[in-house]
Amino acid sequence: MNPSDFEFDKQHIWHPYTSLISALPCIGVVEAQGVELVLHDGKRLIDGMSSWWSTIHGYNHPRLNQAAKDQIDRMSHVMFGGITHPSAIALSRRLVEMTAQPLDRVFISDSGSVAVEVALKMAIQYWVAQERPEKSQMLTIEHGYHGDTFAAMSVCDPINGMHELFNTVLHQQLFAKAPQIGFDQTWQDSDIAPLEALFEEHHHQAAAIILEPIVQGAGGMRMYHPNYLKAVRELCDKYDVLLICDEIATGFGRTGKLFAYEHSEIVPDILCVGKALTGGYMSLAATITTQAIGEMICKTKAGVFMHGPTFMGNPLACAVANESLLMLQENNWQSQVANIEQRLKLHFKPFSALPQVNNVRVLGAIGVIELHNPVDMESIQAAFVAQGIWIRPFGKLVYIMPQYIISNEELERLCSGMYNVISRL
Ligand SMILES: *Cc1c(COP(=O)(O)O)cnc(C)c1O
Repeated sequence: MNPSDFEFDKQHIWHPYTSLISALPCIGVVEAQGVELVLHDGKRLIDGMSSWWSTIHGYNHPRLNQAAKDQIDRMSHVMFGGITHPSAIALSRRLVEMTAQPLDRVFISDSGSVAVEVALKMAIQYWVAQERPEKSQMLTIEHGYHGDTFAAMSVCDPINGMHELFNTVLHQQLFAKAPQIGFDQTWQDSDIAPLEALFEEHHHQAAAIILEPIVQGAGGMRMYHPNYLKAVRELCDKYDVLLICDEIATGFGRTGKLFAYEHSEIVPDILCVGKALTGGYMSLAATITTQAIGEMICKTKAGVFMHGPTFMGNPLACAVANESLLMLQENNWQSQVANIEQRLKLHFKPFSALPQVNNVRVLGAIGVIELHNPVDMESIQAAFVAQGIWIRPFGKLVYIMPQYIISNEELERLCSGMYNVISRL
């Protein structure tokens, strides 16, 4: 990559949530291997982001590469309408096995946002089938993030640009104050009171509640108490509202449980997964529900569930996902994630003493440093790169969610690079 490539990029290519007028510089990555990104100038960075929660087995893994190659030599894609294929069947079998009973009806889609759209449509269609079309609104909590498409946006935290900007077209959903009691703190029933009040007042018009179980990701990297989710399940049962768990970030072991809802020993009615599903190789997601809900949905006049993406069940993505989930089980993710958690807690201790730092929290393979002030993206990104690490903060949050295969030594380098940058802010 030469300077004109970077110049072209800057002028012509949009990156996530960036300006075309004042774009911050991008680094050029030409290769990636294990936990390392290889830059165009040969420099190597330890990746602390797992490319947004997804590359849990590391980059360029021979088994995932082979799964992709085997599948591409047979069939890269085939339409899913009226056609099925071994990769989708194998993947769905595995998803049914891994998730709690009675979750066993799988809708495969192409991205997390679409999986959320599908979940919301399922919930609405479920109530239409029961001749209760007035139950069409969504309950949710503040600080959530569920994707960038319109219905997904409508249930994202309302205090950000997306709601303000798209206010005239977004569905008006019903928000409760987010849980305040942290994962490790002492539970008090008062934490659920705002949501309980919302259920009481609005359950007649509520199709479902959607939330990220235990860890709220892009809306604030918040980790809340398992009793909160338990109480949500009870409210859903009491008031006849479906529970949608968005595990697109938390799924597949990230929080120390295979799915974060297991911390609360509950089962959602609808589950969304994505991100780590293919080990970060390509975009794939799924929405999983129960037989009872799935069959009810199909009792509307339409007779079918009204959704079907062109690339639904893409064989290439399904084959890689299938191999990734197999590796997850074989690699003993429990001990990988428990080891990362233990070491993150150790390495993050010195951060608590820094005056710049407001809060330090760790759960599973997720480590969050919350600062008092928002970071300056351009300078902090350059500082991290100079330390040989890749971390992409937002606002006051500097956080990492490393690959499960990271070595103790690499994790230490990642954390000490992070400390060098934050302590000098
Ligand atoms: C990333 C994310 C999404 C959206 O997934 P995309 O693949 O980016 O569309 C939805 N929900 C949660 C919790 C996420 O972290």
